[in-house]
Amino acid sequence: MKKNQNSHKKTEFLKTNFFDRVQLSLKNELFLYIALAFIFSVLCRLYWVFWASEFSEFYFNDELMIISNDGYAFAEGARDMIAGFHQPNDLSYFGSSLSTLTYYLYKLTPFSFETIILYMSVFFSSLVVVPVMLIAYEYKMLKAGFLAALLASIANSYYNRTMAGYYDTDMLAIVLPCFVLYFMIRLIIKKDKFSLITLPFVMMFYLWYYPSSYTLNVAFVGLFLLYTLAFHRQERINYEALSFMLIALAPIAWFYQAAILALLFAFFNLTTRFFTLKALIWLLILSLVFLFLSGGLDPILYQLNFYIFKSAAVGSVSESFSYFNVNQTIQEVGSIDLSVFMQRIAASELAFICAVLGLILLIKDHKSFLLALPMLALGFLALRGGLRFTIYAVPVMALGFGYFVYFLVLKLAHFRLAKPIILTFALIISLGFALKHIYEYKAPSVFNANEARILDRLKSIASAEDYVLAWWDYGYPVRYYSDVKTLADGGKHLGKDNFLPSYALSFDQVSGANLARLGVEYTEKSFYDKNDSLLQADLLKAMMRDYNASEASLFLHALKYKNFKANEKTRDIYFYLPARMSPIFPTVASFSHIDLQNGQINDPFVFSTALALGKDEKTGFYYLSNGMFLSDDFTHIMLGENAYAIKAVYEFDSIKDASFKQRMIDENGNFYVFYLKESLSYPMQFIIMDKTMFDSLFVQLFFFNNYDKDLFEPVILDKDAKIYKLKR
Ligand code: MG
Repeated sequence: MKKNQNSHKKTEFLKTNFFDRVQLSLKNELFLYIALAFIFSVLCRLYWVFWASEFSEFYFNDELMIISNDGYAFAEGARDMIAGFHQPNDLSYFGSSLSTLTYYLYKLTPFSFETIILYMSVFFSSLVVVPVMLIAYEYKMLKAGFLAALLASIANSYYNRTMAGYYDTDMLAIVLPCFVLYFMIRLIIKKDKFSLITLPFVMMFYLWYYPSSYTLNVAFVGLFLLYTLAFHRQERINYEALSFMLIALAPIAWFYQAAILALLFAFFNLTTRFFTLKALIWLLILSLVFLFLSGGLDPILYQLNFYIFKSAAVGSVSESFSYFNVNQTIQEVGSIDLSVFMQRIAASELAFICAVLGLILLIKDHKSFLLALPMLALGFLALRGGLRFTIYAVPVMALGFGYFVYFLVLKLAHFRLAKPIILTFALIISLGFALKHIYEYKAPSVFNANEARILDRLKSIASAEDYVLAWWDYGYPVRYYSDVKTLADGGKHLGKDNFLPSYALSFDQVSGANLARLGVEYTEKSFYDKNDSLLQADLLKAMMRDYNASEASLFLHALKYKNFKANEKTRDIYFYLPARMSPIFPTVASFSHIDLQNGQINDPFVFSTALALGKDEKTGFYYLSNGMFLSDDFTHIMLGENAYAIKAVYEFDSIKDASFKQRMIDENGNFYVFYLKESLSYPMQFIIMDKTMFDSLFVQLFFFNNYDKDLFEPVILDKDAKIYKLKR
């Protein structure tokens, strides 16, 4: 009997020890998988660095330049934070979340600024493998999680928006909601205090980092409430977590939030008796009232008001001009086709379908994964809202994919070789396609080295209070490299913002000079004269009021004269005219060659860049990449069935010096043909344009160096960009 008891004790002992060991090794396995997936994700992103290092035109300050235009906004903000100051109203992202993180990395690490902004996305975005693995750990499916983590880290859209050099908020925009999701799932499974107190802080950090995530966070909280009511109605900790999350959503200073959370957390732990279920529900209602009073529900109420009563923000629209709608020119906003959609989320259509099936199984087995639905829904918005949303669905679908693969492996375990065959196949349709995408997706830097050097030179010429008149695409990079102010940028390019630069660049020089001066001085005035509602709403309208002009067309016509008296000059203005604006110049011009009363293009104009694709030996016509045909004697162009006479051909040997040979072809011809012999920052050999575009400031100043000596003074003349200073 005694012996028996002893042996029983012994097995009991062995048992606990054994389970401890399993537990420990499961944790070790988790860490191992996280480390491997993280290294995998980083290595995949370094491929672009490896490829790009071959090209000297991608380098500035001995480092590769970034590839995201918006990144220059955060880079400007971080640069200003390091300097410790910036100019009032320079639109710098000083103090923004990504700029702040960059600033601290710069202070705390030995790396150069350029190196930090190049590699931040590589390491930060790879962190997505951590919450994915942690969720898998809660569901005890580490191997499926590992496959999911690998796919989630490099699936097409996530890779595109977080690759090396893609310095943008995207690098944590998925990592953070995945952590929110993880802590919600963990709280439901473990009911632990650690999740309870960490969850609201993760949410607060996410809201600070990416304020637009408010709606997604509200959706998370709303779903968590529904989930609690459906499955865990008696669970006190769920109500505590809900109160915490509501406090996290409130738009008040983080230290107040932290203090309230810490106090409540202490109360919950000290006096469990007091916080009955009923009391907790009251606390939840109180938190909701608190959120309402602090203004935290305003964005939601505003949207409800807008959609249900259709009353918000309509008021002033009728008073405004009909400017060109910027959405017509931005590709990202358009909806996308189904197969691109599936590839962007799961690397291939087949992987996507497996992921959908896996997701259904996963939710069937672990219903807490229902809480991932807000992210999935946001990702699927891409079908209507455009490409950029797909990244939200990536980690959710990746977990579905991993689950499906291991479901098959288990189901077919009794077949010999089933496992290696399934795994090989799964790897090919997921990682295989993602790696192929990485190999093929070779994004260039936003600017080339020469353009960056030109702007860097401007920095030593212009003062930080001066303005550079540039198309909005170049606003952020110009501000970063030259430390100046701009009229338009990646965050300020509505039709009314684009009208002034568009008009100044695509009409005559005198109008351009007058409107640039007016635009800059009125913009500066608008920062201080907050009570002038017309000035706040529309600069052009304010100008017309001050000049007693009743009609826009008359006012704009008056600008064509040199004796037009524009405002007092408070600072210098520079015109930035890059070669790479040529292909988009028709878009640039569209914003001002319109009838402001109805928004329609006034007189159609022609400006089209092209490469010669080949020559038809029989007819002697070159066919061009823009769909036109050019006769080899350069006398005619064909578009469709129609032939058009060419007025003159300009053969450019050097754009820098504007050295060209001019050949008059036909006095009555309508078109000018430029033949460009140099290689430029944007590949183009021919430009075909009509007289309107030929006379524009951009064409005359950039291609011909033909500036009015009373109005302009060349500052930098280069084949990739020219910069002129306005003399008045
Ligand atoms: Mg500045």
